[in-house]
Amino acid sequence: MISPLTTEVYAGLGVAACAGLAAGVFAYAAMWPGSRIFGKALIAPKRPDELALTFDDGPNATWTPRLLEILARHDVRATFFLLGSRAEGKPELVRRIAAAGHVIGNHSWSHPNLARTSASRVREELERTNETLEQITGMPVNFFRPPFGARRPAVLRIARELGLTPVLWNAMTSDWSEPSAERIAEQLTKAIEGQRRHGYAANIVLHDGGHRDPAANREPSVTAAGMLIERYKATHRFVTLDAWS
Ligand SMILES: [Zn+2]
Repeated sequence: MISPLTTEVYAGLGVAACAGLAAGVFAYAAMWPGSRIFGKALIAPKRPDELALTFDDGPNATWTPRLLEILARHDVRATFFLLGSRAEGKPELVRRIAAAGHVIGNHSWSHPNLARTSASRVREELERTNETLEQITGMPVNFFRPPFGARRPAVLRIARELGLTPVLWNAMTSDWSEPSAERIAEQLTKAIEGQRRHGYAANIVLHDGGHRDPAANREPSVTAAGMLIERYKATHRFVTLDAWS
């Protein structure tokens, strides 16, 4: 049976956990997407012909609509991890995302590092976002991606208590600071091919908003998404995360 929960930490990456210092191990467990020391999270199943495009830090008035156009043009569905604080002010845009058949996930209310946030505030961040998104779309929220990938056991426990599956990723580049769409697409292609060689689907992260600065330019990220779709649409299936849960 295919387990949607990737339980392997690749040998090469596991080395980082052996640094010896407790602080180093803690940082690894809290921040490294492949670490399962702090509990399981959905990454990607052993389906090397599937790709999940996921977009964090939206909704964004400028870039989310551009992205929606590209996805619609290619008839591709994606997963959007929205910030509750941004969604609250843009209910129509959130409804547009949902109406187009994309999956909407919880990316917290205000994008704190949840590895260093009190349990009560973690709950508030997640609960408030769930409530806001559900009120806007009328649909339940099932997925949660921790900001920065930062977590600890309490974060995952609280997420599960709220009915959320924690999600990490296995294909990312610094798209938020990269001016070239070509380079973002190139870096992600390398990550996708790496996962494919190991027999895994790719859970790809891009950003259609800026969690610090909503005016941040996300054109390279949005363009790179289109380039990846062009590159892979003939050979891969683009899926939303509910296909893996
Ligand atoms: Zn984020």
